[in-house]
Amino acid sequence: MIHRRLTTIAPRSGAAEPAFGGLYVHIPFCARKCPYCAFWSRGDQDLPVRREWFAALRREWARRRDTEPGLASWRPATIFFGGGTPTFLEPGELDELCGWIRATFDLSGLVEWSVEANPGTLTPQKAAILRHHGVTRLSLGVQSLNPHALATLGRIHGPDEARAAVAIARDADFPHLGADWMYGLPGLPETAARHDLETLAALPGLDHLSCYALEVEPGTPFAHRRVRTDDRLQRRLYEFARRALRAAGFSHYELSNFARPGAECRHNLLYWSGGAYLGLGPAAASHWHGVRSANSRDLVRWRRAFSESLPPAQKACETLVFGLRRLPGWTRAEFAAATGGFDWTTLRGPEIAALVRNRLLVETSSRLRLSTRALFVSDSVFRALI
Ligand code: SF4
Repeated sequence: MIHRRLTTIAPRSGAAEPAFGGLYVHIPFCARKCPYCAFWSRGDQDLPVRREWFAALRREWARRRDTEPGLASWRPATIFFGGGTPTFLEPGELDELCGWIRATFDLSGLVEWSVEANPGTLTPQKAAILRHHGVTRLSLGVQSLNPHALATLGRIHGPDEARAAVAIARDADFPHLGADWMYGLPGLPETAARHDLETLAALPGLDHLSCYALEVEPGTPFAHRRVRTDDRLQRRLYEFARRALRAAGFSHYELSNFARPGAECRHNLLYWSGGAYLGLGPAAASHWHGVRSANSRDLVRWRRAFSESLPPAQKACETLVFGLRRLPGWTRAEFAAATGGFDWTTLRGPEIAALVRNRLLVETSSRLRLSTRALFVSDSVFRALI
């Protein structure tokens, strides 16, 4: 059960402001750094470093609450713990962090609390602690159930740990349970990858799947080893995933994301619809009162958060691109509401017309969305619009 914060400041009218926006907390620790990973995280950090991170997290919140508009009485609608690996924290640390969230924020309007978790770090005790505090959704970094694929990715877990993590989450009775699947790995035959996805999607209890093609990011060990991926294979697997998951009852609601009815990630939908969110922790991004900002990636310097105000038209273009990640795209009315009155034709009319001619965008009088053929080459569409 989620408790109401005792110190909530009542609005003058006596009626609470509607809950809105999302709180993101970045937990930058992992058991070990995966060789393909470009996320900001550190492998195997010991307890003093984690204590320092938690103390700084609380200081960051206190400073922002006192200096940024509307935060003192904010009621978030969603919370997301991302990383890194939130479940790398010890049970007592997870309990303390969740307890701090409950004591600090007014959660009376909360509709979703998501936590990322990785097989090999999730235990029944940690799952029970998260459930006890009111976490409603677990997102498991399964990546694959194939032993060769997991070894290639340098994950700390094998197929048995992945299945065990799904079972632990299911037994803890989270209302929603998702998993990541990574495809297009070197050395894994296409038939094995297809079987991998079908096996994962058939695990009982999963109502959300995020499918990511392996990308070799600059600066990672994979880039240094010159790991190659096969674009055509990845495209075929993407199309296979769309067909297989739809046949299994999932809807394709965002470029990489599939959900059973009602299981879409509400927090991530905020990102894609131009919503408000506040990010705490190193490398966390925020979109608050119309200003996009990002914290330093450096653990020591992150408290010196910087913010960058974009010109309104540029910000509206970013919002356009974020929203096109959702398969239904934008309606004109939604887009105007999310951007303070902008219209996409005024912003990027010629570029949109060219993309429509090339059958990469579909435009009607009231709606703009990616075409099916654009789903796998969405980056080039977005570059043309930014
Ligand atoms: S567990 Fe996830 S965040 Fe951590 S190193 Fe691996 S891919 Fe990156």
